[in-house]
Amino acid sequence: MLTNQSKEIIALIGDPVSHSKSPVMVNRAFQEMGLSVQYVAVQVKTNELKQTLDRFNEKGVKGFNVTIPHKVAIMNYLDELDQSAREIGAVNTVVKADGKWIGFNTDGLGYLQSLKEEIELDLKRERVVLIGAGGAARGVGYVLAQAGVQHLTITNRTQEKAEVLANDLSSFTTTEVIPLQEGKTAVQEATLIINTTSVGMHPNEDVTPIPVEWMHSGHIASDLIYNPRPTKWLKGAKERGARIHSGEGMLVHQAAIAIQHWFHRQAPVESMKKALIQSLSE
Ligand code: NAP
Repeated sequence: MLTNQSKEIIALIGDPVSHSKSPVMVNRAFQEMGLSVQYVAVQVKTNELKQTLDRFNEKGVKGFNVTIPHKVAIMNYLDELDQSAREIGAVNTVVKADGKWIGFNTDGLGYLQSLKEEIELDLKRERVVLIGAGGAARGVGYVLAQAGVQHLTITNRTQEKAEVLANDLSSFTTTEVIPLQEGKTAVQEATLIINTTSVGMHPNEDVTPIPVEWMHSGHIASDLIYNPRPTKWLKGAKERGARIHSGEGMLVHQAAIAIQHWFHRQAPVESMKKALIQSLSE
């Protein structure tokens, strides 16, 4: 709830939202930046989005983050969308500017910054297999395709969604869709394999999005999941010699970019990462 009247409020809306690690991480950033701002998670049902925005207007809320399941629905209530949000088709960050609510998507860029920070790679030479075609896959697929990766193969349980995404990204790079069960050759020939599904996430930690046996030492295995860290799939990939990249860096960087949108200042990424990792281990 919007309780602290003495501080400015930045909110996180979602349903459920109480488990989110974002408040710990973002409040640490605000504290270190010397901002008198509190980041507050607010549980909002889909039919409450309009009244939530009205309430934010009344309270002078200057921005908010959006998480599952509202990243698409919120777009109906905003005044403007920046290009990334429009092309990805989802919003995770909203800024109040000149009285207007403006939607951004920082997930994809957050992912890319984290990947580049942790793994040495040349994006233009990477052959990518993207597992999944949900909201996170759209953000990640969009930035990778725009960055000019050599080839993008998309595979998803619901193939139609993979086909829509592949089509949307085909103006940036060559794309292809394959059935999930038939991905072995494409995976083995690729260099960067990214799990954007929730398969392997706590509490269902004992499953993998694709067989670990498909992975080899020429791969970069990247999993958007940050709990557990690493996932069973990443552990297996590492045992087979792959370089691995886990989801916490994306969570930190997408938040840091959101903070930049709200306050036009750099966020303390390292402190945010420490706060997140500490909170994940509690
Ligand atoms: P979403 O829009 O609901 O998409 C979920 C994806 O997972 C879809 O591709 C879905 O396939 C697939 N999936 C779900 N259960 C499956 C199963 N049992 N077998 C095979 N595929 C399954 O969710 P999202 O927002 O994209 O999030 C996906 C994951 O990314 C979550 O684990 C989330 O925590 C993580 N994430 C991490 C960050 C970060 O900062 N690190 C940011 C955003 C998301 P269908 O299309 O067939 O349903």
